[in-house]
Amino acid sequence: MTRAFVTGPSGQDGSYLIERLLADGVEVHALAHPDDPAPEAPGVELHSGDLLDLERTRHLLVDLVPDEVYNLAGLSSVARSWDEPDLTGRVNGLAAVALMESARLAQEKSGRAVRFVQASSAEIFGEADRSPQDESTPVRPVNPYGVAKAYAHLAVDVYRRRDLHAVSAILYNHESPRRPTQFVTRKITSSVAAIARGQATTLALGNLDARRDWGWAPDYVDALVLAARADEARDYVVATGVAHSVRDFVAAAFARAGIDDWEAHVVIDPAFVRPADATELVGDSSRARRHLGWEPTTPFAEIVGRMVEADLTELDLEEQGAQSASSPIR
Ligand code: GDP
Repeated sequence: MTRAFVTGPSGQDGSYLIERLLADGVEVHALAHPDDPAPEAPGVELHSGDLLDLERTRHLLVDLVPDEVYNLAGLSSVARSWDEPDLTGRVNGLAAVALMESARLAQEKSGRAVRFVQASSAEIFGEADRSPQDESTPVRPVNPYGVAKAYAHLAVDVYRRRDLHAVSAILYNHESPRRPTQFVTRKITSSVAAIARGQATTLALGNLDARRDWGWAPDYVDALVLAARADEARDYVVATGVAHSVRDFVAAAFARAGIDDWEAHVVIDPAFVRPADATELVGDSSRARRHLGWEPTTPFAEIVGRMVEADLTELDLEEQGAQSASSPIR
């Protein structure tokens, strides 16, 4: 039986990955931060701990000797990285490299192969000198999040040279109803649902012209698994290849909720405009398509639609719950 070790199990990607691995019959061990909500995944062996407790995590890996290690833990928000650049550097950079070393030690001590997948990010390209970006695009981050991810990304190649099957999956933005609301997509869909249900009137946003290559999160998790199991360890851009602006996303979300005059509901708040913003990130995933047989399944309009529908349903369920709680007991 394959044994996998997953960090960051409570997040969007961790939850989809664990579901996927369990469905495949994999024995899944997960390192969950004590402050995070426990992942709702019966069948997972949960280990409570902080990835920054490097020695403890190392012992765990050397004891378990997993076949596959997926490093999904980290501060996931570029916006937050401006407020906490040092913590972002330690978790997203240093702890990731320490985990690679732990995987290498587990492999060396046991004589069994350990495969390592680092969830990297399009943010390593920052203000890219070309569009779309691919695996050969120069690494040039423009924010603390990208800098930390770049450090871990570069270390993957170092560990590959030390006989670890190490992969850096350069993930472009990937969304779902499980995306937290600090990300612009879910912020938009949850606010649009609230406006559609008469619970809010406005949506405050920053840079509407920023363009992102938004994909469907479960597809990106599939790419991680395919990359872990490929014959050769390489880096892969995982992206749809199509960019849309924040404005496009807003218009599509309001349209899906049946609201045509979206501009009447949107205000620009400088508090949400970033000190520096990668303005156009779009990925060329030809290598992943060719070598892994991977391809995105869900187009932009469908991603927006599923997220809006999920947020509308959530509000409707809350409303029903509130009504039944206030109705008299017969
Ligand atoms: P990121 O690409 O990982 O930073 O993901 P986000 O979803 O946080 O941001 C995507 C883009 O949306 C960035 O270029 C932001 O500048 C832009 N954006 C515009 N308004 C907002 C906002 O109100 N919140 C966030 N999070 N991003 C915004």
